[in-house]
Amino acid sequence: MSDVHSAAIRSKNMRAIKNKDTKPEIIIRQALHARGLRFRLHVKTLPGTPDIVLPKFKTVVFVNGCFWHGHRCHLSKTPKTRTEFWLSKISANMSRDVLIYKKLSDAGWRIAVIWECGIKGCGNQKLNALISEFVEWLNDPKSLGFELP
Ligand SMILES: [Zn+2]
Repeated sequence: MSDVHSAAIRSKNMRAIKNKDTKPEIIIRQALHARGLRFRLHVKTLPGTPDIVLPKFKTVVFVNGCFWHGHRCHLSKTPKTRTEFWLSKISANMSRDVLIYKKLSDAGWRIAVIWECGIKGCGNQKLNALISEFVEWLNDPKSLGFELP
């Protein structure tokens, strides 16, 4: 009985980890924190539950998995099996993203989209440069959108 229970909890935890705390997201969070930036995570009251919210800068950050969000890059190859299923799922995600970004920007939020492929496998030095680029954007209130890469 207790085994069944712990297995259920374990699988629930695994799902949560997979959906929320992806590796590129953790890397970004740590880098922003190291720069003294303060943020909230997974704010459910905002459209699309943004991964990172910087209230002081009225900015939301989405760290997007390239496959799930249909980024055209080396990380998002079209699956060879159940191709139709995946293509329609990904295209639904993309339409949803457009809608979410529209709602957020209508509500006065600045939006940063950081793609998995921009972070994955990049060394500390490059990451530092990317974060500097982001912080520079953050401090320029006239600039409404940021995308990496
Ligand atoms: Zn990508």
